[in-house]
Amino acid sequence: IKEKGKNNYKFYNQSMTEDAYKSYSLERDLRKAVDRNEFEMYYQAKINAKTNGLVGAEALIRWNHPNGNRIFPGDFIPLAEENGMIFAITIWTFRAACEQLKRWEKGGLTTVPISVNISPEIFDRQDWVETLLQIMDETNVDPGLLELEITEGVLIQNDETFITSIETLKQSGIKISIDDFGTGYSSLLYLKKFKVDTIKIDQSFTRELLNNDVSLILKAIIRLAHELDMTVIAEGVETAEQATYLRQNECDQIQGYLISKPIPVGEFVQLLENPVIQ
Ligand code: C2E
Ligand code: CA
Ligand code: CA
Ligand code: CA
Repeated sequence: IKEKGKNNYKFYNQSMTEDAYKSYSLERDLRKAVDRNEFEMYYQAKINAKTNGLVGAEALIRWNHPNGNRIFPGDFIPLAEENGMIFAITIWTFRAACEQLKRWEKGGLTTVPISVNISPEIFDRQDWVETLLQIMDETNVDPGLLELEITEGVLIQNDETFITSIETLKQSGIKISIDDFGTGYSSLLYLKKFKVDTIKIDQSFTRELLNNDVSLILKAIIRLAHELDMTVIAEGVETAEQATYLRQNECDQIQGYLISKPIPVGEFVQLLENPVIQ
């Protein structure tokens, strides 16, 4: 950069400072956000591909920044994963999901399972499983109503401790889903080893569904997953053509803007009250 001349160098330097300042203040604000209760869970419907009945909800975090902006997870989860804040945030989201399930139950609503996104960074903490089990215990929630969405990359590490962790969680009754399936390196063999309940076909596949090569791979994945007794859900479904295609090819569940965007819990309750989505 220096070679490009004095002016360029100066400009570069200045914007670096601005970027550094921005990320510093974001990090500073993020550290306060948990204590100040600035996070909010949005819920996105998952439906049965055949009946259109509501079968679950994915909890997706939003940060209501005190400056009035709603910040999407893509703009702060990576930072939290880097600076270790992800553990506190995950505890918050998991507890929020448990408490939400209890509130629905107490309000006499039909509840549907909630899935919570889990960043692999929390596996570095030895007490992560224990912490989740403890939260389920404290909130007295049915573990069968909770699902962890974990991206497939961690599966191939084939780490003994991790395998034991997943087994312990599964014994409690909690479900495991492999998120963004198809973007990493997992094989169905690993899925079998971990006895995951669900695989979630990544949006990039859904988008390319009507392309012959993708369609061929997708059909094979669905067939194999079913042979291993797994549920298959496709995410990022935006068009009726995609939904029809998935239904015809035995995909079990679908999720995406075509059905519903992620919405605040108050709106999601209306879906619980009227669980067949037209
Ligand atoms: P993800 O788990 O793959 O979640 C799906 C993302 O796609 C969500 O974005 C969702 O709003 C969006 N989406 C859903 N349907 C459609 C569709 O039909 N079309 C398109 N184009 N997009 C759709 P969101 O909420 O911004 O979350 C982004 C990512 O941030 C998530 O990807 C997940 O990796 C992470 N994330 C979200 N909430 C949490 C959380 O509570 N904890 C952790 N650790 N990560 C989270
Ligand atoms: Ca997810
Ligand atoms: Ca995903
Ligand atoms: Ca993702």
